[in-house]
Amino acid sequence: MNELKVKTLYIGMTDFCNLSCIMCPQRAERMKKKPKGFIDIDLVKKITGSLKMIGDEELHLFLMWLGESTMHPQFDEIIKVIKEAEKHISKIVLYTNGFDLDALKRLIQIIEIPVQIIISLDSASAPIYYRIKGMNNYEMLEKM
Ligand code: SF4
Repeated sequence: MNELKVKTLYIGMTDFCNLSCIMCPQRAERMKKKPKGFIDIDLVKKITGSLKMIGDEELHLFLMWLGESTMHPQFDEIIKVIKEAEKHISKIVLYTNGFDLDALKRLIQIIEIPVQIIISLDSASAPIYYRIKGMNNYEMLEKM
């Protein structure tokens, strides 16, 4: 019998976000009524602890959901928990709006396996970025 192995794992760190983009599903009335929160670090420990049994050697770990992962108050601690399971993960992919560059720098410093950081610009110019995001950060992100 073939063993069941996990090749892709998504961890939603939070559904809070420091932006309110015009197209974000979080703006829908039904989403506004849902309670928001941050993932419990003990749950992350349980998930990553199970990877030695169920992880595939090519496993990609995605940190994303309808929120900004870097806003988690224990972001660094969670990254350190993930680091302990590094040998069972081939790559970490983080989706972010890029507002907390320091958190992104710390992530790269802590993790030794490949990390892909995908920053949502959602526009090709500063004025459109501002119209969509309601904040000015385009020029800083463009320089990265
Ligand atoms: S950055 Fe992403 S999660 Fe945050 S408001 Fe914009 S679309 Fe929604």
